[in-house]
Amino acid sequence: MKRLVIIALSLTVWGCGTADSTEATDGERDKKKLEFRISPDIQEEKPDDEGEKKTDEKVGDSRQTMLEKEWGLYKDKVLTHSAADLPRKEKEMLRHLLTAAALIEDLHMLQLHPKNLEWEKQINTSGTEVEKKIFTRFQSPWCADNESPECCALEEKPEKQIGRMHWPNDMREQEYKTLSKQINGKELISPFTVVRRDKDSKLEAVPYSQTDALGPKMKEVAKELRAAASSATHKSLKKFLLSRADALEADDPYPYDDSDYDWIAVEGDWEVTVGPYETYKNPHQLKALFEMYIGRVDKKITDELVMFKANLQAMENALGELVGPEIYKSRKLDPRISIRAVDIWMASGDGRRDRGATVAFHLPNRGKSVDEGLYKKVMMVNHSMAFEGVSKARADLVLDESQIKYVNAKADITNVTFHEFAHGFGAYHEMKVKNPKGKETTVKEALKEYDTLLEEEKADTFGLWLLSFQKKNGWVDEEQEMVRYTSALMHILGLLQYPLNGVYPRMVAIQLGWYLDAGAVTWDEKTGRFTMHYEKMPAAVESLARKVATIQLTGDYDQAKELVGKYIVDKGEKDYELKGVLARARKVMMDKFEKAGIKSPSLRYEVTDL
Ligand SMILES: [Zn+2]
Repeated sequence: MKRLVIIALSLTVWGCGTADSTEATDGERDKKKLEFRISPDIQEEKPDDEGEKKTDEKVGDSRQTMLEKEWGLYKDKVLTHSAADLPRKEKEMLRHLLTAAALIEDLHMLQLHPKNLEWEKQINTSGTEVEKKIFTRFQSPWCADNESPECCALEEKPEKQIGRMHWPNDMREQEYKTLSKQINGKELISPFTVVRRDKDSKLEAVPYSQTDALGPKMKEVAKELRAAASSATHKSLKKFLLSRADALEADDPYPYDDSDYDWIAVEGDWEVTVGPYETYKNPHQLKALFEMYIGRVDKKITDELVMFKANLQAMENALGELVGPEIYKSRKLDPRISIRAVDIWMASGDGRRDRGATVAFHLPNRGKSVDEGLYKKVMMVNHSMAFEGVSKARADLVLDESQIKYVNAKADITNVTFHEFAHGFGAYHEMKVKNPKGKETTVKEALKEYDTLLEEEKADTFGLWLLSFQKKNGWVDEEQEMVRYTSALMHILGLLQYPLNGVYPRMVAIQLGWYLDAGAVTWDEKTGRFTMHYEKMPAAVESLARKVATIQLTGDYDQAKELVGKYIVDKGEKDYELKGVLARARKVMMDKFEKAGIKSPSLRYEVTDL
């Protein structure tokens, strides 16, 4: 039986589980082919299936019903790519990379919970269809939207614990706070170490590669990357795969700095990202989870981005002018910054989103290259395009009818590109700042629980503010400006539907609240439709962008709290509520979408003909 969750290498008959594929002709159906995919054999749901109740052997069981409901919140969508036309060497490379991606999926699952791989086997052998599907999507037995302990793919319903394996079981709250002050503080707060107690009960940091839980699989990943390197056609990719393989095996709490430079310098047809990066899912957001992306470069869009890249320094300078020289002196950006647009062939581990999809990333988050202002931005074109139909369908229901014509998926890609650019301007997490009390600190330390939210807010609002900058430079005309603002609003409304315990829904709630206050957007309570007042948008966006950038650069915790508190009630324990009209508008909008059966896609990946 094929492995659940994992992108399995297996011989299957074409057509099995890919009934929707348009690439197969009848003559090909019997041909045996090697296929990489995220298992299991879940049929991609067709729109006509929606609303049709699937039966299971345990109908009537409330747990099964809950799982069905959770599964039905998003539309399962498979992105299929055929390797048929690739040269032999590239196929060879891809095979090794896909095997590495499967191992990364395992590593990430082990990080989420050490028993995850056992549970996976158990569910694979005796689970119901919906249990398999939930486990596949969430890479663990627990539901994400429904916090009830009942909403679990395992009958024994283990307590929901994510990422605890990085910390001792008896770790105290106070100990988290004083980690960096310990003698071995630098090692303890490394995103790439597991923290343990030694025999004297002192905290010690063990590099991921040296742990029994992760080390052996990291070695296997390194082996696959080296094998992929031997068939890599571009020397820059070969160099990166080899240096990243070495880093994965290194006995060092910060092993990735050198290979980060190699990653940023990768050129050629393929874009490969692999390693531990984001810390969002970890308790106290300190330890990085493994992820991998394999993308094929979209040359046309990458070329279009070159013009923007030539102006990155001017944009950084513009942020300096926006907040004023007394608050920020613009940095000198490194001209080696890389920007690429790709089609994602495979995402695994933390890179595979359970709901919606990441449409771009800006990495690394930390390290030597970042301190030097050097990083890479990757736009995921096929991920963005997967939302095109959804965005239009939503606009039909909630946007002023005369403005629906301005909704456009390409404009979304451009907006997201500027969001990613904006991450590189102004403040960043580890930047040294003076807080209002005159204390030397970092942005992250000063803003505490608001740090990530404000960083995303800066990227979104400053990114949108740059639209005025582009207009001034004659890169966009009035109509394109309206298209971009409208797409930004639809993006806001799209993200607003996700549970508020995520960073992005709160990020857009603040924006929508601000634009409503400024009268740049209005909401008609009777029709439930939003109207944009384009002439008021530039000033509204500018005032919010200035405010957010200033809060970050002055490490002003109180101002951060006030801004967020204007629109969002924090009820503790990751429970949030929107205020006033925002809450009403969100409810009306979500009811409309639910009634119309409009769902965001949840993506899986499949590579055929290898
Ligand atoms: Zn972002």
